[in-house]
Amino acid sequence: MGINVALDGPSGAGKSTIAKRIATELKYVYVDTGALYRSIAYYVISKGAKPDDKAGVIPLLPEISVKLEYRGGAQHVILNDEDVSDKIRTPEISMGASAVSAIPEVRDFLFDLQRDIAANNDIIMDGRDIGTVVLPDAQVKIFLTASAEERANRRFKELQEKGDPSTYDEVLKDIIQRDYNDTHREIAPLKKAEDAIEVDSTSMSLDEVVEHIKGIITEKAGAKKKRVKPEGEKKERKPLLDFSDIPPVKRGKKLNPIKLFFYNMLRYIVIFLLKCWFNLKFEGKENVPKDGSNIFASNHRSMLDPVLVELQCRVPNSFMAKEELFEKNKAFVGLIKFWGAFPIARGKGDTDAIKLSFEKLESGRNLLIFPEGTRSLDGKVGRGKTGVALIAAVAQCPVVPVGINFEGKLKFRRKIVVRFGKPISPEQLKVTTPGPKELKLLRTTIMDAITELVH
Ligand code: C5P
Repeated sequence: MGINVALDGPSGAGKSTIAKRIATELKYVYVDTGALYRSIAYYVISKGAKPDDKAGVIPLLPEISVKLEYRGGAQHVILNDEDVSDKIRTPEISMGASAVSAIPEVRDFLFDLQRDIAANNDIIMDGRDIGTVVLPDAQVKIFLTASAEERANRRFKELQEKGDPSTYDEVLKDIIQRDYNDTHREIAPLKKAEDAIEVDSTSMSLDEVVEHIKGIITEKAGAKKKRVKPEGEKKERKPLLDFSDIPPVKRGKKLNPIKLFFYNMLRYIVIFLLKCWFNLKFEGKENVPKDGSNIFASNHRSMLDPVLVELQCRVPNSFMAKEELFEKNKAFVGLIKFWGAFPIARGKGDTDAIKLSFEKLESGRNLLIFPEGTRSLDGKVGRGKTGVALIAAVAQCPVVPVGINFEGKLKFRRKIVVRFGKPISPEQLKVTTPGPKELKLLRTTIMDAITELVH
């Protein structure tokens, strides 16, 4: 069996555009199941029957043969030997599909076709009930949403480009009506599968959503693929980086007082400027240690995060930034280096970067870590990498959890709340040997502390 990705969500959330892009980039087959329901509606209407008239629709099913073909990577819907791919994209057919999809016999009729395609390929299949009914065992399940207004807006623009005369209000009304139909029908209603990851795309650009979902797929599908090893084959566990010879960080080193003075002046100026621009609040300031050599572990929402955390630190922070950032233009690289960034090769267990972290801590600076490794676009806190636990366990420096909170994108007067939690003491961080199990537990302790500050 290939990798199955189930992508469900309401009408107009952008599922098909996103699934198409991801399928091309990851070389998966894209299956648009809505097109199947649309082709049934198209046939029913062409025969003069009403899509919501169950008694009229069911007798027509034996006359229908529908299949999906792929040409040049694009899906074509073939209805009784006719390519109807374009004809099924009208508002009338959309409503018709919503109506026929509530008929159990129609769903049964299309069920096997969907299952067969999924059984033989690496696929990304979009629909309403893929994660719950069609592919309940899919390795990856995503539930993509967006506000009704945003979805109507996107659909309206699409229809306008095609010269469709529908108004925005009509499109919005249709979306709300289809949402209602899809979530209230008795059979296979639209709902998030328990194990699906929800992605709200309201304030995300197309590129952001694609990258975010691709990240989820590569992480999850990669992990699952690795799991299906032939029986009897022993897993070679790569030894963790060996830090047994590294003593805990000696804390208490003082930084140059003149440099500190200028750093703190700059800090107050930046606080002032950012407070003019954003509605910026800090909570739990009393939890920020006054001295240096502390680890700050924060959720990651934006490029501004290192600055937001640092604004409450009387001693400057150093932080790891992905190495690609150091290939950008000189001014940018200068700025991030000035702000304390040093490069890390992500996902490669970069020993040098970890050793450099210890040196920074030993020099009296703080170390800022974003354990998730990458920015969270939907605001939810991810699982985090074990690197943070390894550094904390070996360095034995207090870990201050930080939660950065704001809704949507950063823009003028956006409310931002930066919360600092109680430091996790070196005693709580002690592990006998930094083995995988202990580190995972410690990672969970740190991530839980961060998650508590995100609300
Ligand atoms: O995704 P699309 O808008 O093309 O789907 C058309 C209609 O088909 C939806 O409004 C929904 O009612 C129905 N559908 C479904 N189950 C699916 C896919 C689509 O009920 N898996």
